[in-house]
Amino acid sequence: MNIIDRLNKHKGPAFSFEVLPPLKGRGISQLFYNIDKLIEFDPMYINITSHRSEMVFVSTADGLYKRISERSRPGTVAVAAAIQQKYGIPAVPHIICSGFSKTETEYALIDLNFLGITNLLLLRGDKAKHENRFVPVENGHSYACELEEQVNMFNEGFFLDGTKMDIISDSKFTYGVAGYPEKHDEAPNMDIDLAHLKHKVDLGASYIVTQMFFDNKKFYDFVDRCRAIGINVPIIPGIKPIINKNQLTVLPKVFHVDLPNELANELNNCRNNDDAKQIGQEWCIHQTRDLLSNGVKSIHFYSLNATDTVRNVVSEIF
Ligand code: FAD
Repeated sequence: MNIIDRLNKHKGPAFSFEVLPPLKGRGISQLFYNIDKLIEFDPMYINITSHRSEMVFVSTADGLYKRISERSRPGTVAVAAAIQQKYGIPAVPHIICSGFSKTETEYALIDLNFLGITNLLLLRGDKAKHENRFVPVENGHSYACELEEQVNMFNEGFFLDGTKMDIISDSKFTYGVAGYPEKHDEAPNMDIDLAHLKHKVDLGASYIVTQMFFDNKKFYDFVDRCRAIGINVPIIPGIKPIINKNQLTVLPKVFHVDLPNELANELNNCRNNDDAKQIGQEWCIHQTRDLLSNGVKSIHFYSLNATDTVRNVVSEIF
């Protein structure tokens, strides 16, 4: 069942959360352990992030170093399959342009189709760490909208080279895309960013998940502006619980979001990370309650390293 039908059928407030594939070399048991903490609260779906390869230095037998390209977190498709199989709820793998050629994406779509995973989140993906702007790999996509076109073509039964599939699957992919209440950092302005978002929706995205934000007013303004230009699909707010003091400066830098004065001051006054975690949890509860009381039906939690906080929040609210 696709995500939006599932959300529409659900009575009462709903939530979802995202997990990262384990670091290369680690097993999947810790990931299941974290999911187990949240599963009893009936999440609607679980997202699995995707990570491009990065250039790293490795030592060689002769004591020198060589620079190689390595994915530290492979396995998005496999983790999605494992989660869907184990928990029986939809897994939503992130499919990204960054670091992947169109051909590799086509192979991933074939795998996903065989596995019965039909809900996707389509994204451009982060730029490589060693580059100062996003550069697609050879034969890769530059924007999420191009990825949508590839998935649409696959849904219609065509491969990249235009050949028709022998058997066209009945189970089509449905997908969501990302939106930015505080603007994507590369967009020249909000109007242009929203025009690109509208294009993604017009191409077939059935919902939008937002980047994290800490001031709900920014989300409400974003929704109003989307509606004003004819974006009518559900917009699911993404909420991140703060878990340490460092995030006061790290989150604005990495995600290009502001922290409201009240939250920033409270975090600044914390003596240690335990205090900061408590403040983060209270803020998350406050944000979630406010969103739900303003008609939001479903919340998406960025739960990286914050499973316990998310558990406390959902056990209190959902
Ligand atoms: P796009 O929609 O392609 O937009 C990127 C920029 O280009 C924007 O500034 C936009 O305005 C502009 N633009 C869009 N279309 C066009 C066009 N046709 N012509 C010119 N300009 C255009 N990153 C990962 O690497 N892995 C993940 O798993 C991951 N998960 C995420 C989940 C969520 C919910 C969110 C909000 C972000 C996630 N990210 C992830 C980060 C995301 O990939 C980055 O923010 C990336 O820089 C932008 O992705 P996008 O899909 O929004 O890009």
